[in-house]
Amino acid sequence: MTQLVNSADSHVVEPLDLWVQRLPPALKDRAPRIEEIDGVWRFVVEGMPPRRMGMPSDGDGEREEPSSSSGFRPGGSDPDLRAKDLDEDGVWGEVLYPTIALFGFMIPDPELRWASARAYNDWLAETFAAASRRFAGAAMIPVQEIDEAVAEIERVSALGLRSIMLPMQAPADLPYNLDRYDPVWAAAQAHGMPVSFHVGTGSSPWTERGPGGAVINYVEVGLGAQRTLGYLAASGVLERFPELHVVMVECGAGWLAWLLERMDEAFEEHASWVKPKLAAPPSFYVRRQGHVTFGNDAAGVVNRGFTGIEPLLWASDYPHPEGTWPHTQETLRRIFDGVDPDERRLVTYETTARLYGLQASGD
Ligand code: MN
Repeated sequence: MTQLVNSADSHVVEPLDLWVQRLPPALKDRAPRIEEIDGVWRFVVEGMPPRRMGMPSDGDGEREEPSSSSGFRPGGSDPDLRAKDLDEDGVWGEVLYPTIALFGFMIPDPELRWASARAYNDWLAETFAAASRRFAGAAMIPVQEIDEAVAEIERVSALGLRSIMLPMQAPADLPYNLDRYDPVWAAAQAHGMPVSFHVGTGSSPWTERGPGGAVINYVEVGLGAQRTLGYLAASGVLERFPELHVVMVECGAGWLAWLLERMDEAFEEHASWVKPKLAAPPSFYVRRQGHVTFGNDAAGVVNRGFTGIEPLLWASDYPHPEGTWPHTQETLRRIFDGVDPDERRLVTYETTARLYGLQASGD
């Protein structure tokens, strides 16, 4: 019998004209948009290098304007088709992150950045959150302006979005251990919204272009999760906001054991330099309030006796090509081979259900 699972990291695929359609009239000319530059379709965002779009290989030689779903399953933008794909793969609910808007945290102009984030959050709420309670949307919350961030958390909570997403890489000179962020942590805690940090957000994921670049860049972006979780645990954010949950998304799980030991070693061996003096070692707060998502990470499952089972959240990454669809059940059988069924159920269903309100009907 197939056990239903929840995916703690899945993606919508935004229509390419989302921002042109939805930005206020005064900003429409500056909206992030698709444009043909030197015969190649690129996604153009003010103040950022244009991104080449993955083109469908229809082979007819005609260069048509790409549609929103180019290269991805249509379920990326259609909630009904999406639900069919999930049913086929044994997945009940999903936490939804953007695809194009992952880059929106880096829009330099504050007015355009905020208008673009709000437009995405509105579209996500109307298209997916309103369609089914199987979809827990994570709102985009830029963090350069704290008052605006708190106001947007209040707004998206009322829209029915169930989580907030902050950039994995904090803005320059504004690291996550500063108390300027306290109103954000407080608002998220008050609304019971887990705060997530998706891989590759807040900084360019392409930093190395020399030999080994593709692999090196994949390693580099993954390291962001260790840094961010370290900042939140060691600085006392998790201690001061004990109901806050933080989720490092799409960076795997095998590294978590190393981080816990590394932090605790400093906390104990360098005690005279440690400030603030937390009531318990940093690992305690991560085991209580920290989470990591992974799709196919055998080492993370093997380490569960050390990290605890609570931090581990399985995820499909549908409809991205790295994801497990349509082989989710086969992947789960492989990575949970020999694992106690109750533990497997916590990682693949229950903890995500509890954090994001993704309980299946009749459960
Ligand atoms: Mn993802």
